Amino acid sequence: MHYEGNIIRPPSEARSIILQATVGCSHNRCTFCPTYTGVRFRIKDEATLSTDIRYAAHAFPGARRLFITDGDALVIPFKRLFKLFEEINEQLPRLTRIGIYASAKALRRRSLEELKLLKEQKLGIIYYGLESGDDETLKAMDKGTTSGEESIALCNKVKEAGIRLSTTVMIGIAGRERSLIHARETGKVLSAIDPNYVGALVTMIAPGTRLEEAERQGKFTLPDQLGLLLELKEMITWTNLSRGMFMANHASNYLPIKIHSPAQKEAALKMIDEAINGAVPLREEWMRGL
Ligand code: SF4
Repeated sequence: MHYEGNIIRPPSEARSIILQATVGCSHNRCTFCPTYTGVRFRIKDEATLSTDIRYAAHAFPGARRLFITDGDALVIPFKRLFKLFEEINEQLPRLTRIGIYASAKALRRRSLEELKLLKEQKLGIIYYGLESGDDETLKAMDKGTTSGEESIALCNKVKEAGIRLSTTVMIGIAGRERSLIHARETGKVLSAIDPNYVGALVTMIAPGTRLEEAERQGKFTLPDQLGLLLELKEMITWTNLSRGMFMANHASNYLPIKIHSPAQKEAALKMIDEAINGAVPLREEWMRGL
């Protein structure tokens, strides 16, 4: 396989074939994101992708899942993207699900009809970086949308196409002063979207990012450990899913939580309270990671 630069994928795609269809991210401006710093976005040429797909078909003929990278590969112009899906399915007929990352820009470009056509080509899950439902916070992080309402509309389009939706949100990204507002607004937007999965990550300030620069200049301060727990509690309190999963068990979290919502919501809130009171141990700093 021809891989270039940083290859990232969701934890749930650990056993999938990873096909790198683009290099970098077409947005590449989020203040906290170090993944593609200095990388010029491009779509990989068809010959390279065909070689990789044929290689994957030869090496993993029984594969059930495939994940397309990089950062927002759904942005690829539709004709080219559809052709790529056709080729993948032709070479790997036993696949049951294809997954992909999407930014707001990518979802804006995809019509409902296009998403339905991709669904027929086994696009089974889209991973969307919501990060926050708070407009001020979205603007500050240069997320590519400044509106929680827009994210609701974009995500509803995915759900209407019958594609599963996984959203990430960030704990701490609004800084100390806006922490609880961000938590509440994000909970409200998550409730309106009602995704299949929510993954909550704790913000880690990566070297070389604009967020690090803001911190150095005193314009951004990450909440402390207690503040992060209170923010997580507020977010879960305001998040009402019909039957999704809320996961705050990524390595960046101090308190790993994985719950079915709404059934286990009260238990999660109780556990956070116990952690705040010191009755439940937190993940040590050296055990945390991006
Ligand atoms: S859209 Fe995703 S990959 Fe692109 S800069 Fe933002 S966080 Fe990074």
